[in-house]
Amino acid sequence: MTLKYAAALILGGLVSAVSAQASTYRETFMPENDLYKQDCIACESQSGITQQQYLDVIAKAVRIFTPIIEAQGGTLNIVDHWSDSTVNASATQDGNDWIVNMYGGLARRPEITVDGFTFVLCHEIGHHLGGFPFVKGFFPPEAKWAAAEGQADYFAAHVCPALWWNDEATAEISTPVPESVKGQCNDVWKSPTQQNLCYRASLAAKSTTDLLAALGGTRTSFNEHDNSVVSSTYTGHPAAQCRLDTYLAAAACSESWDNSVIPGKEGGRPDNSTAGEEAAAHHSCTALGNFTVGLRPACWFHATL
Ligand SMILES: [Zn+2]
Repeated sequence: MTLKYAAALILGGLVSAVSAQASTYRETFMPENDLYKQDCIACESQSGITQQQYLDVIAKAVRIFTPIIEAQGGTLNIVDHWSDSTVNASATQDGNDWIVNMYGGLARRPEITVDGFTFVLCHEIGHHLGGFPFVKGFFPPEAKWAAAEGQADYFAAHVCPALWWNDEATAEISTPVPESVKGQCNDVWKSPTQQNLCYRASLAAKSTTDLLAALGGTRTSFNEHDNSVVSSTYTGHPAAQCRLDTYLAAAACSESWDNSVIPGKEGGRPDNSTAGEEAAAHHSCTALGNFTVGLRPACWFHATL
């Protein structure tokens, strides 16, 4: 698919997405915020990524995820909002339309690298495909398709790297990798390609969580952990360090993922019960699967099995 064709597909989705947003529940990358006030699309010293890089990432996501989502009965529709200063991204479903909205305001943030932007997009795809645990509680019935925030993060780092960088020689990373990241990745992964994918995922996660930390007035570190423990699974946006911990855990998860399955969504019906947890358990690293590395962190996830 040429870029021009992909862009036409993306722009072609705009009408349906706008009409869908009026009545459809959306999952976002980060809490609503006023960082859009800092955006300057016309500034000469623009930060973040370029519009071409932005379009390239979207076109690549269309290529990778269109067939996977079609196999689930959906039609992927990634909508180009380059000119919109919103610092966020979102996912929604309207019937068979599985929509992702990507905003220029987020792409232009100084914290955002190309790989970081890729991870934000993967997070949104993760709401569609990530499965258990799903959003729950006070959310309306039409939101029941969506994986929880922490699960969308876990999907991004567990599933995206091999799909995104493994089809070319791009797994290799040119950016310096902190020793702590190398240590954690190399404990699990033994081939140079697997190690590079883990490094690259970790640095992408740092980019996105640096943005989250900037919003919250905090910071994240590869050398720290969010040691809080929830008594029941939290399905909203975890704190920035908790989200970095989730990404790093997922990058170190060696359990294989099956692209033909949305774990816990048997027969198209999301299941947050123990049965759903059990059905999903062998699609990622869990205690039930006898893993001790790569588990979802307790700062948002409460395992009942
Ligand atoms: Zn989200």
